[in-house]
Amino acid sequence: MLAAVTTGKRTIDLLDRAEPAPPGPGQVTVRPQAVGLCGSDFHLFEGQLDVVGYPELPRVQGHEVAAVIDRLGPDAPQHLHEGQSVSLFPLLACGECYPCRVGRPNVCDRFQLIGVHVDGGLQEQLVIAADRVYPITSSRPAVSALAEPFSIAVRAVNRGRIASQERIVVMGAGPIGQAVALAAAERGAHVLAIDPFADRLEISKALGAEVLPWTTAAEVAEYAREWAGGEGAPAVVDATGNPDAISAGVDIVASAGRVVIVGMSGRDLAVQVSRFVEKELDVLGVSVCQPHEFAEAVSIVQRHPETLGRLVSHEFPLRSAPEALTFAMENPKEVMKVVIGSV
Ligand SMILES: [Zn+2]
Ligand SMILES: [Zn+2]
Repeated sequence: MLAAVTTGKRTIDLLDRAEPAPPGPGQVTVRPQAVGLCGSDFHLFEGQLDVVGYPELPRVQGHEVAAVIDRLGPDAPQHLHEGQSVSLFPLLACGECYPCRVGRPNVCDRFQLIGVHVDGGLQEQLVIAADRVYPITSSRPAVSALAEPFSIAVRAVNRGRIASQERIVVMGAGPIGQAVALAAAERGAHVLAIDPFADRLEISKALGAEVLPWTTAAEVAEYAREWAGGEGAPAVVDATGNPDAISAGVDIVASAGRVVIVGMSGRDLAVQVSRFVEKELDVLGVSVCQPHEFAEAVSIVQRHPETLGRLVSHEFPLRSAPEALTFAMENPKEVMKVVIGSV
């Protein structure tokens, strides 16, 4: 079977690999149909391994995976059947470390993400634990693959305690920012999306957000505080990983508010310490999600197939995986979500 294998910095080899052994008890074999690429894939491809938790190479990337069940192992759950369309919950946790013991397995010290620490979706077949397979009804695999980025958004909205009627600011209108805007709107919040790119803000509008083009941190902060009613926003979610945006977010948020950071980057943040103290801010990091949040993401994706289809900007076949990654990284302005399909 064909596998796109990351073997070194900026190197993906298309290899013919042996098919996996039949699924064991509690496992299923799936055939990936669509694999979304995101920033963490770019970091891994670029060799910035510290940003993504030190995976070992060679590695088959792909953690945003829509697939079809090919074969069920013994004792597979009743609700799964062969030929079924599914999205994959990519996380495996150890169950023993401190975060696992306190009910936060999504930040397990020894967690393994498919496509990062174990082989992921950029291959023709994959064996995975049956409890990480979530049935999804969507006519388009590329849209089903959005369940994973949406699960991060559900996590962000939960961590930020985003509630009905709150006026929430989302920094960044890439796929995660769009997903946060929609997940927050589904909680009944009003959303202001901020991004430098007009095309992205058009999609945010379609998802029900109000929008503001990014100009300077000072200008954006002044407008956004006013939009939120003058006192600042009760919560700001950063989906950029950009220090300037996070700094603006710290200005925009109200005293006693929440700053939720979901954008990933290897950059340093320089913010005056007293700003956190004076405002008594809750600063909340967001990693991947928990199982119930993945289930909620699946249902959000199922409810909005048309609008979310607009997030899929480019599709490539599996055999063009190296070109797909390079294209996605070199064209941030026109790329919303690059999805790699089957062979
Ligand atoms: Zn991702
Ligand atoms: Zn653990």
